[in-house]
Amino acid sequence: MEIIRSPKIMQKICTGVKKEGKIIGFVPTMGYFHEGHLSLVKVAKKKSDVLVVSIFVNPTQFGPKEDFKKYPKDLKRDKKLLKEIGCDFLFAPDIKDMYPEGYDTYVEVENLTRILEGASRPEHFKGVTTIVAKLFNIVQPDIAVFGQKDFQQAVVIKRMVKDSNFFVKIIVAPTIREKSGLALSSRNLYLSDEEKKEASILYQSLNLAKKMIESRERDSRRIKDRMRRLIQEKPRAKIDYVAINDSETLKPLKEVKGDVLISLAVRVGKTRLIDNIRIKV
Ligand code: AMP
Repeated sequence: MEIIRSPKIMQKICTGVKKEGKIIGFVPTMGYFHEGHLSLVKVAKKKSDVLVVSIFVNPTQFGPKEDFKKYPKDLKRDKKLLKEIGCDFLFAPDIKDMYPEGYDTYVEVENLTRILEGASRPEHFKGVTTIVAKLFNIVQPDIAVFGQKDFQQAVVIKRMVKDSNFFVKIIVAPTIREKSGLALSSRNLYLSDEEKKEASILYQSLNLAKKMIESRERDSRRIKDRMRRLIQEKPRAKIDYVAINDSETLKPLKEVKGDVLISLAVRVGKTRLIDNIRIKV
C-alpha cells in the first residue's frame, strides 16, 4: 500500500489508473477505524481493481463547538488495518493542501440539508459536500462506498453527484453494530461504561418503531411518542430529534408508507449519537 499526502500526486496516479481502464473504488473517511469503516473498505475492494481510502479529518464539517480538535486519531493502526485488507492507496492529505490560503469555494446541496442533521448542525453538510466533491475530483472514483449509519449524508451525496455530473456510482453499505445494538462510531470512544450501556437505547427505540409498524401502526406521531418515552427512561439520554421520513425525498411522513427512514439523534452525556433504520412498508 502506498501512502500519498499530496493531492496533486494522488490525482496524477488516479488519472494514470483510469487510462489503463481500471475501476477505481473509493472510501472517504476521517480515520480511527472500527469494523464499520472496514466493512465499507471490504465492499469497495470487491467491486474495484484499484482501491483508494482517504483519511482526512475535515475541519469544514465541524461546527465551532464540536469536537474537531479532539477528534480521535491513530494513523499507525489505520494503516495496518488497510494493508491487511489489500488497500492500494491511502490518501492522507494535510489541511493546508486541501484548504490552502485564500480558499473560497464551497459545494452546497440546498433543500435536503435543511432538515434532520442539517437542522441541528447548520454548516455540517456544506463541509461534507465540499470535501467529498474535492476528493472525487482528485481520486476520480468509479464507485464510492458510504455507510447507512449516516443515511442523510449518503442521500445528500447522491444528490450532489447527480446534480453536478460526477460519474461515480454511490454504494450505501449497512450499519455495523456492537452486540448491544449500538452502532459503531469513532465517537463511542467518548462514552463512559455507564453511558455506553444507556446508548443502546437508540437501537432499542428503532426496533420498537419497527415492531409497531409490523403490528400495522401507521401513525408516525404515535410511533415517535413511544420511541421518545422509551429513550427518556435513560437518565443520561437527551433527545435531539426522533424523525420518520421518506427515504428518498427525506420529506417527513405523517402516515408511515413506502420506503421509510426512521432516524434519531440523542445526546448521551456529552456525546451526540445518531442512528437509523430503513423499512419498506
Ligand atoms: P467517518 O470516518 O465517521 O466520516 O465515516 C466514514 C464512513 O464510514 C461514512 O460513510 C460512514 O457512514 C461510515 N460508517 C461510520 N460508522 C459506520 C458503521 N457503524 N457501520 C457502517 N458504516 C459506518
